[in-house]
Amino acid sequence: MTDNLSLVPARFDVATDREYRMLIDGEWLPSASGETFRCVDPYENREWGHVPAAGAADVDSAVRAARRAFDSDGWPKTPPAQRAALLRRLADLIEQNADELARIQIHENGKLIGEMSRGTFMLGAHARYVAGLVENLHGQTIDTGFPNMSTSTVREPVGVVAAVTPWNTPLGLLAWKLFPALGAGCTLVIKPSEVTPTSTLRLAELCMEAGYPKGVVNVVTGFGQTAGAALVAHPGVDKIAFTGSTQGGRAMLRAAADRVGRVTLELGGKSPNIVFADADLDNAVHGAMAGIFAATGQTCMGGSRLLVEDSIYDEFTSRLAVAADSLRLGDPLDPKTEVGPVACRTQLIKVLEYVDIGKSEGARLLAGGVRDEGLATSQGFFVRPTVFVDVENRSRLAQEEIFGPVVAAIRFKSEDEALALANDVDFGLAAAVWTRDMARAQRMAHQLRAGTVWVNTYRMVHHTMPFGGFKQSGLGRELGPHALDEYTETKSIWVDLGNRQTFGRR
Ligand code: NAD
Repeated sequence: MTDNLSLVPARFDVATDREYRMLIDGEWLPSASGETFRCVDPYENREWGHVPAAGAADVDSAVRAARRAFDSDGWPKTPPAQRAALLRRLADLIEQNADELARIQIHENGKLIGEMSRGTFMLGAHARYVAGLVENLHGQTIDTGFPNMSTSTVREPVGVVAAVTPWNTPLGLLAWKLFPALGAGCTLVIKPSEVTPTSTLRLAELCMEAGYPKGVVNVVTGFGQTAGAALVAHPGVDKIAFTGSTQGGRAMLRAAADRVGRVTLELGGKSPNIVFADADLDNAVHGAMAGIFAATGQTCMGGSRLLVEDSIYDEFTSRLAVAADSLRLGDPLDPKTEVGPVACRTQLIKVLEYVDIGKSEGARLLAGGVRDEGLATSQGFFVRPTVFVDVENRSRLAQEEIFGPVVAAIRFKSEDEALALANDVDFGLAAAVWTRDMARAQRMAHQLRAGTVWVNTYRMVHHTMPFGGFKQSGLGRELGPHALDEYTETKSIWVDLGNRQTFGRR
């Protein structure tokens, strides 16, 4: 058989539809209340699994377990070589189970099999990279110039980390926190998104299989307003590592404020994708598509504001609209599918509301803007890839994060205007420039207020390159050679080698 359907793997061929337990202090437990919630496959709009709905009592048990594992000094004092070896063992297990981990995430959030499989397999390389950093984690001897004084620094783990993660790339974004936290000698309580809890539970199982001591990795499943809020407010938490909406980020800062808790935040975006008339336009059309329709636009770095030079604006946006209309929507497990569903019903409603907002603001719809009516997609949460033109930069369509397959195309006449428009937004996660003029590309790259700038490409991310946001897109950086910094405290040690102590006569 060569028909497409034969290429589609059987759905639910991993044991996903079952009762789940949370991981607390090395034990797999239901919630104290016995309450559960269900996941929904966004392609079929089908409920599956029963996942514990953690409350404050479960969160308290998990934080106490993480606290004990940290304060007993066993884990934080484990030699770096041993922590690195454990990360490498975890890397092997992730690679061996990458296919299953990818499929679970697809049943949770509807992301495409190609991207999910590649991304999940790459977590192995990421864990090994962090293992290398752990082996090179050391303090410094510093010459202060004082005679008879030995001065040095040491790096110590920050303590108990609350890792709160979103649904769009559940394991990838967890790994950005989990690997460096474990590498530094921290313990964790993880609260995955209520949309995607089970992939994190499976990864936690692999952590146990790798040999992490009990209490080092804990997972509580549940909702943001209950389990999440109880976790980040817990006095036993030293650091919050959060990826999610900017609104959620503000809640994290408020929760940490009273105890001056450490916080890293990876938040929302409204990233400008800037096309100059001298760009390779075929390439730029593909770049614009990859920027906003990959992952069905549910990516923090989505190129949702498309800035196009006036002289090519009409031609470029028409080409983009034709390309958007031709995209093939369907089963995310089918390798031929180009656009999957949005991850959940809330997201579907939100995206369609923004289409209405765009229309009411006077923007013109050139493609999409509707729920897909195709036979294969009628049950799922599908929105046609959407292109709006004649968008005002100060409009809500151009300023607010939609987190769906909706692009707002804005016109500019000069490099200065492009830069001003690009930076005129509260977010600062990413930006891209399409041009053949490398001097202009460099000028733009240095003036764009964003944590990542791409030139003639889009959506490139790698564990060796730091990632994070300017402005309201975040606080701190993940990935890259300094990934461990956010999980360590630097201590300065002064040892007097025999000077006489003086008081008031220095
Ligand atoms: P969200 O803020 O709704 O939820 C994120 C996590 O926080 C979930 O686990 C949720 O249960 C929890 N949560 C929500 N409110 C909470 C509260 N008051 N206290 C404690 N926990 C709470 O985000 P989402 O809808 O899951 O994810 C989409 C958002 O994530 C988008 O804004 C996107 O831009 C952002 N994101 C950012 C990055 C990045 O690296 N900058 C990457 C991916 C996603």
